[in-house]
Amino acid sequence: MTRPFTFPGLTTRVVFGHGTLAQVPDEVARLGHTRALVLSTSHQQAEAQALADKLGDKAAGVFAGATMHTPVEVTEEAIAAFHAAKADCVVSLGGGSTTGLGKAIAVRTGADQVVIPTTYAGSEMTDILGETAGGEKTTRRDPAIRPEVVVYDVDLTLTLPVALTVTSALNAIAHAMEGFYAPDRNPVTEALSRDAMTAFRDALPVLIQDPKNAEARAKALYAAWGCSLTLGQVTMALHHKLAHVLGGSFGLPHAETHAVLLPHTTAYNEPAVGDLLNPIADTFGHGSAGKGLWHFAKSVNAPMRLFDLGLTAQDLDRAAEIATKNPYANPRPVTRDGIRQLLQQAFDGHCPA
Ligand code: NAD
Repeated sequence: MTRPFTFPGLTTRVVFGHGTLAQVPDEVARLGHTRALVLSTSHQQAEAQALADKLGDKAAGVFAGATMHTPVEVTEEAIAAFHAAKADCVVSLGGGSTTGLGKAIAVRTGADQVVIPTTYAGSEMTDILGETAGGEKTTRRDPAIRPEVVVYDVDLTLTLPVALTVTSALNAIAHAMEGFYAPDRNPVTEALSRDAMTAFRDALPVLIQDPKNAEARAKALYAAWGCSLTLGQVTMALHHKLAHVLGGSFGLPHAETHAVLLPHTTAYNEPAVGDLLNPIADTFGHGSAGKGLWHFAKSVNAPMRLFDLGLTAQDLDRAAEIATKNPYANPRPVTRDGIRQLLQQAFDGHCPA
């Protein structure tokens, strides 16, 4: 029987293809704007400057100070630059850190956003913003955070380093994985997430050998879009909570942490969700979603152990405490012992049982 659902609608315009960066000036004009502040990290400043040059008199300048975890001090600096330049919108060129800065500016000023994602992290299609102030990371959802336009240009992902290609893709798969059992999932998120699994499965083995393979890059970026759309429409659970705890309280790197946790959080929830994770098991083999993802991650040289990301054995008890302190919805009850065991598995990197 067809399951009842609510579809929240599609509010972000998406342009996807090769060389689509050239369409950004038209997209800015389409929104009715004339002065775009281009955002990037310092690492991608040259690309941001080149885009500002393309925007010509529609560019209000470049702010290349985006950094991991969206610190509020950086946002305040960027907003000062936004006002000083008399900008009327932001164009964010980069990964989740740059998208985060654009969202932080938008939610405070009402500015429209054009986002050009260059990783697979998946922030661009969501209404979610994580920020840090005084060393603490908080996350909120607000319709004002969701970007107006996303321009996916496959060519910009050709330079994504292989290691980040792999961990960022697993970060994206984590959104799809939790989307399969999210209570508010809908047929669009389910179909796109299923398609994204296949596209990542086929693209990643090619990209670790041939990172500039345009067809595999296109598949991977298409998959990232599907996973991002899912993240932007449904509620996440244990996996995202644990990744947040390890990033926020222990300083572990974002994409790598998602990559290491994914097979273990999947295996934890798998017995509680009936056949909902079958699309993952069917795509990656090995008889279960958790095992399939573990073998896939290993085959594309992903980091496999929390130990390698800098967590210590002494941290595991505290991480389990923090992760189970506040109750939250998850298909399988979140118990301290259960999470402690999950963390031990992820720490050691063994294949989930
Ligand atoms: P990132 O944006 O921090 O980028 C990592 C580094 O890679 C940066 O130096 C960046 O300039 C560089 N880089 C990016 N694309 C490149 C390319 N194509 N070629 C060469 N270098 C490139 O990393 P990320 O994993 O994309 O983003 C992580 C952040 O995004 C975290 O803070 C996370 O919380 C946030 N995030 C938010 C959401 C959301 O919905 N709010 C979703 C996913 C991630």
